[in-house]
Amino acid sequence: MPATLPDRLAAPAAADATTLDQGFAAPSGRRSGAGTAALAVSEAQRSERLARMRAGELGSVHSWELVTAVDGPGTRMTVFLAGCPLRCLYCHNPDTWQMRAGEPIEAQEILARLRRYRKVFAATGGGLTLSGGEVLMQPAFAARLLAGAKAMGVHTCLDTSGYLGAACTDEMLDDVDLVLLDIKAGDEQTHRRVTGRPLAPTLAFGQRLAAAGIRVWVRFVLVPGVTDDPDNIRKVAEHAAAIGTLERVEVLPFHQMGRDKWDALGLDYALTDVAPPTDEQWSAACEQFRRLGLPVGGNPAGVSR
Ligand code: SF4
Repeated sequence: MPATLPDRLAAPAAADATTLDQGFAAPSGRRSGAGTAALAVSEAQRSERLARMRAGELGSVHSWELVTAVDGPGTRMTVFLAGCPLRCLYCHNPDTWQMRAGEPIEAQEILARLRRYRKVFAATGGGLTLSGGEVLMQPAFAARLLAGAKAMGVHTCLDTSGYLGAACTDEMLDDVDLVLLDIKAGDEQTHRRVTGRPLAPTLAFGQRLAAAGIRVWVRFVLVPGVTDDPDNIRKVAEHAAAIGTLERVEVLPFHQMGRDKWDALGLDYALTDVAPPTDEQWSAACEQFRRLGLPVGGNPAGVSR
């Protein structure tokens, strides 16, 4: 079961780098950016704010950053949206869980900044990545950002667990070039233990992406004693292999870099005594994916970028 959480951080009621040939180095655990510096915070009052959030004009943003060789190909502007329905035991960013903890930022504010980097994106094959938290907690805002990016000719990527895939409209998918899909466990019991939520919505979203012809990179975090059972890994590999548009799999070694945030938030961190996987454990997990013919990357050092 997930760590015990204070009420203010409890999940909302049901969900209403190893470099490969792409030159992309996957972080073993993605940390959110430094904040919303350089983005103007909206002055909208509460009632107006809610209406504008529903329309997607305004979003709750945890942070953003400009990165190279993480979160997708090339140099990318990654925006971390606030709010997440999962409570992963190994979460590196528990400060993104609550939507109300983010800053209200106009979609146009983000798109204006994105516009400044268009030449960089074009030169590096980069673009916009929406991450979190869970990007699909704010589908209208995400849709507006994706549409704005595509209108500029900018490559787009979603970094998501897929748990809220049903909130992603077909129109929104039309504006998505690549999805980094986290499959956090291969079987239902392990998935619920790791995230507190069922696995089926993630798998359904993967199938929908394939049917829509959207490229997918699957990410799996290897946590000794939690997700490293060979049977669980085999099932993750089978789920990944079933996605017809899968391009690669990243096996990301668990590490302790998120622990300070759990401590700062007063959360009960369940993985205090868990060591990162050894190189041998990581290699064995990768081999399980390769046996199904899947291209595998990751970071055997277990160190984030
Ligand atoms: S989905 Fe991501 S942000 Fe949400 S709890 Fe899991 S690791 Fe943290």
